[in-house]
Amino acid sequence: MTVLVQRYLDEILAEHADNAEGVVADYIPELATVDPSSFGLSLEMTDGYVYESGDSAVEFSIQSISKPFTYALALDEVGQDAVDAKIGVEPSGEPFNEISVDDQTKKPKNAMINAGAIAAVSLVPGANPHERFSRLLDFYSVCAGRALDVDEDIYQSEKSAGSRNRAIAYMLQSFGVLDDDPDEVLDVYFRQCAIKVTSTDLACMASTLAGGGVNPRTGVRVASPAVVQRTLSVMMTCGMYDATGVWVTTVGMPAKSGVGGGIIAVLPSQLGIGVYSPPLGANGNSIRGVLACQSLSAQLGLHFLSVTRESRATIRATHDVADGVRIYELHGDLLFAGAEQALRIVEQDGDGVDVAILDLSRVDDINDVARRMLIGMREALNKVGKEGFLVDPDRRVIPADRANAAVYPTVEEAVAAARRP
Ligand code: GLU
Repeated sequence: MTVLVQRYLDEILAEHADNAEGVVADYIPELATVDPSSFGLSLEMTDGYVYESGDSAVEFSIQSISKPFTYALALDEVGQDAVDAKIGVEPSGEPFNEISVDDQTKKPKNAMINAGAIAAVSLVPGANPHERFSRLLDFYSVCAGRALDVDEDIYQSEKSAGSRNRAIAYMLQSFGVLDDDPDEVLDVYFRQCAIKVTSTDLACMASTLAGGGVNPRTGVRVASPAVVQRTLSVMMTCGMYDATGVWVTTVGMPAKSGVGGGIIAVLPSQLGIGVYSPPLGANGNSIRGVLACQSLSAQLGLHFLSVTRESRATIRATHDVADGVRIYELHGDLLFAGAEQALRIVEQDGDGVDVAILDLSRVDDINDVARRMLIGMREALNKVGKEGFLVDPDRRVIPADRANAAVYPTVEEAVAAARRP
């Protein structure tokens, strides 16, 4: 239901807008000059519908959010065995730019820290750095559904301030992880960190992962489901620097953050989130970005462990009973994504339908957010010039005290109410 979901997003942004904690990354001068008050939040459903709030059109550098995408591309291009031979899948418990490899294997611990990300770049096929980077940029662009570009100033700065990453790359070469020239690999890595995105681009990239590797806006498959599953697994355990445990317990979605202030979060088969707010906390994650995701997860019931059953229950059948009156039969379990999609279809249905009757008799289970959305359906439909009624025979779905929701025990009674002048 578009106005209701939009309102959730706007309220979450307003709730955290005044939080001025954190500091903008300043390891390069270009990042220190961004506007710290920028705050954008975007949500893309896996059918490609997008919600945006705040500064969702402001571009910023993707930084470490590039890492899962390069990892996915490497997995897709050279296969899991070749990637696993060079990069592990264990959380490191160390800062992202630690100059270290796993004690036993002498490989980077995972692809979400710099060492693993630099190794992942080296696995992307390309005859030279230019070709390798073009492949990466094309891949990010098909994930985002538009042609992305590099912020040249940030790239130059990353390059001139890159001693630590140089130390990592040469260490990797000495351990036999990096076969190619470290400086050439680093050049591609610095460029990938400097790619410009908006929170809406990130939501689309996240939604592409949520959809198992198909960009929901363009329908283009970018990677296989197995590659996406592997990438999301590593994001889940390693994506939020050394604050991953708090993230998983309070938000509960595979995610990746970057020092540019962006975060992506992915709820498989349901939605992708992109958020932008530059001030970072001590562990390098956007402070308001994390807070916004915590609020979204709590209010919309998005923790992946709460989504235990089929959550895309939607419209089973529709019947037209009279001029402009359409009955929609819903079934299965109703959680946020299923309710959002069903109610959006009802809201946007054309063909002269101006009265919607939602038959909830076959709904098995419903969570709080889906219930609130059904209760708010009438108000939302009124805004687009439609009327809405619910059929809930034993008031299992809509509590009896919600008089404003126009709930009837049978379809016939709802139809009669719809016909009443
Ligand atoms: N360009 C940064 C680096 O490699 C990216 C860091 C990040 O976003 O975590 O140091």
